[in-house]
Amino acid sequence: MTLQKARRVLIVGAGPGGLTAAMILGKRGCEVEVFEKQPQVGGRNARITLGDFHFDLGPTFLMLKEVLDKVFAEAGADSGSLLQFKRLDPMYRLQFADSRRLEPTADQAAMQQEIARVFPGRESTYQRFLAREGKRFARLYSCLEQPCHTLGSMFSLRLLKALPHLAPGKSLYDLLSGYFTDPQLSLSFTFQAKYLGMSPWECPGLFAIIPYIEHHFGIYHVLGGLNRISGQMAATAASNGVRLHLNAPVRSLLLDGRRVRGLILEDGREIHGDEVIINADFAHAMTNLVPPGVLRKYSPEQLAKKRFSCSTFMLYLGVDKLYQIPHHTIVFARDYRKNVEEIFNGGSFSQDFSFYVHNPSITDGSLAPSGQSAVYILVPSSNLRGSVDWPHEAVAIRERVLDALESRGGMPDLRQHIVAEKMLTPQDWQDEYSVYAGATFNLAHNFSQMLYLRPRNRFEELEHCYLVGGGTHPGSGLPTIYQSGLIAANLITAPD
Ligand SMILES: Cc1cc2nc3c(=O)[nH]c(=O)nc-3n(C[C@H](O)[C@H](O)[C@H](O)COP(=O)(O)OP(=O)(O)OC[C@H]3O[C@@H](n4cnc5c(N)ncnc54)[C@H](O)[C@@H]3O)c2cc1C
Repeated sequence: MTLQKARRVLIVGAGPGGLTAAMILGKRGCEVEVFEKQPQVGGRNARITLGDFHFDLGPTFLMLKEVLDKVFAEAGADSGSLLQFKRLDPMYRLQFADSRRLEPTADQAAMQQEIARVFPGRESTYQRFLAREGKRFARLYSCLEQPCHTLGSMFSLRLLKALPHLAPGKSLYDLLSGYFTDPQLSLSFTFQAKYLGMSPWECPGLFAIIPYIEHHFGIYHVLGGLNRISGQMAATAASNGVRLHLNAPVRSLLLDGRRVRGLILEDGREIHGDEVIINADFAHAMTNLVPPGVLRKYSPEQLAKKRFSCSTFMLYLGVDKLYQIPHHTIVFARDYRKNVEEIFNGGSFSQDFSFYVHNPSITDGSLAPSGQSAVYILVPSSNLRGSVDWPHEAVAIRERVLDALESRGGMPDLRQHIVAEKMLTPQDWQDEYSVYAGATFNLAHNFSQMLYLRPRNRFEELEHCYLVGGGTHPGSGLPTIYQSGLIAANLITAPD
């Protein structure tokens, strides 16, 4: 790609989206400065350290590794020499209330046998799922690689060809139960809606591409934690000449009407640039960094009407014992659907809840002292639009989560072995990590908030302003966020 004119680009936030754009634009000859309010890079993909224990703050599943490889290559770097990837096989354990356990693998013959082991007689439709969803993936994923910032892009040949695969009117659960009639087996291919912070009964059916991606490409861990990716992106950006400022919160965009001229930092300094990229959580940025009265479509009042993902209650536990449970385990509530409805209806914290346990020390010895473990627990919960009073209820909820881990999570004596701990509630996601309404997976991915209808990478409300990250096109999740960084970089360096 040829650069028409070197530009000065300012980036708000050093999360995965901002870092991707920074390292690519640096490589393409732009003068890039990144302003990050936290003392470290990575955003929700940062590292947490408690004594000798190291945790990923957020992402733990790396899917579509090829997208990561591509963005590093665009920045002139080789991800394979910077990071050590470990393909997980089996990918994870799914644990049902009746004590059945399924361990999905991306080895397709082995997966068919695994289905036959746990759901005898139900294995035959697996190949049909792979064949049909493979076609949907081939048509749809290429649309997610495009900017989708003009109405014309909605009528591109690529998108028109994808239309029959959008499965309008069908939820992910509807679509997948067409292959898997056993409800628990259906759940094994639809719980992935939670990766978008959505309910399988509401998430559009086209997201059947997510379980397909897992089963076709597999999932990866990165030695040292997925936060290493952000660390290496920052290093690559620096070697491409990008200037990274930590502990540098941005107070506001510097505007001249609707044209963005630069940034005003919290310390009052004005920084001027040709283009500004916003990686801060989209809805947080719109409500906090843009002066009142400027925005129409995404004003605070309009944002209040939008749909957002669920949130997560988190425990990061340093444990002086290594539990013999898999790298990833998902433990389903007895009544999964009721739990999901309670999360999205914004009621109290469910009595009967699902949770996810990350036990990476079982495959990666670098995260805790030998024989010990850095355990991360994620409980999907309602975002701050729900009725839980987190500051008052968090301690009691922590006790209930520890009870569940001891009774259902394979860690019967957990409390006796906790030597380091951090708890994070939806309120903390908002207050400490600048996540609007604590909605950890951003704007929901319903049809009215996708593609052209999602905040665009060339922001439609302000000039010389670009958006990257999970709240923008193509959507939440690391591969699509990396893609957003690449799209924004392309729009800046090769404007149409
Ligand atoms: C608990 C959890 C688990 C997840 N698991 C997975 C997973 O397994 N796989 C997956 O693919 N995805 C996962 N995700 C989703 C997604 O990949 C991550 O949330 C990702 O880190 C989001 O990246 P981002 O670029 O959108 O923004 P962020 O990571 O939120 O980065 C935004 C940055 O902007 C900074 N910022 C905000 N305001 C300002 C300001 N005013 N001035 C300067 N800087 C500012 C923030 O400090 C932050 O560093 C998970 C998310 C969470 C929360």
